Amino acid sequence: MYILLVEDDLLLADGIIRAIQRERFTVNHVQQGQAALNHINVEPPDILILDLGLPDMDGLDVLRKIRKTTLSLPVLILTARDMLDDKLAGLDGGADDYITKPFELKELIARLRVLERRLSNVNTNEIIIGNVSLTTSTLQVCVNDEILQLSKREYMLLKALMESAGAILTKENLEAKLYSWGEQIASNAIEVHIHNLRKKLPSAYIQTVRGLGYIIKKQ
Ligand code: CA
Repeated sequence: MYILLVEDDLLLADGIIRAIQRERFTVNHVQQGQAALNHINVEPPDILILDLGLPDMDGLDVLRKIRKTTLSLPVLILTARDMLDDKLAGLDGGADDYITKPFELKELIARLRVLERRLSNVNTNEIIIGNVSLTTSTLQVCVNDEILQLSKREYMLLKALMESAGAILTKENLEAKLYSWGEQIASNAIEVHIHNLRKKLPSAYIQTVRGLGYIIKKQ
């Protein structure tokens, strides 16, 4: 899960980034609306967290521009309480949810989970495919009720594939979901994680589609 955070308050952004990373989401951060639009064009996130009071443009204009091209991108709006009334228009403008400042990081994470569940079309914090179950609220993965010991990246990789079960994810898709901008990525990093993950999972659970990427089939 790759989240783009658009927030010019650096202290707040820092807190949000830490909270999101603890939940093993990948997060990238920009401070301006135009930068957000540029990044969304190049590498659309799974979820956008958008502050409305940005230095270069109104967050609602950012939202309108996004909705002209990417209808399905889930957007969580951050707004000051005293701006709420006029900004409720933001929901008509195509936001999926909003949260007023100041807020508890726990609440922000809970809202993100709701958007995440909507994305993967599940109603609980648990994704089950075949013998494998992954619980996002506890970061736990079980095979036949036995808990697996996974590294952070292994967990993120498995989650990305399970959420998109039935679809092929390319190496580039997976890198975007596992690593933030500027993080060093070895050229074979995904292959290495897949290799290690396969040793812990039922055989043939993750399949290679030659020349394209990886898939977990729906069962
Ligand atoms: Ca702001």
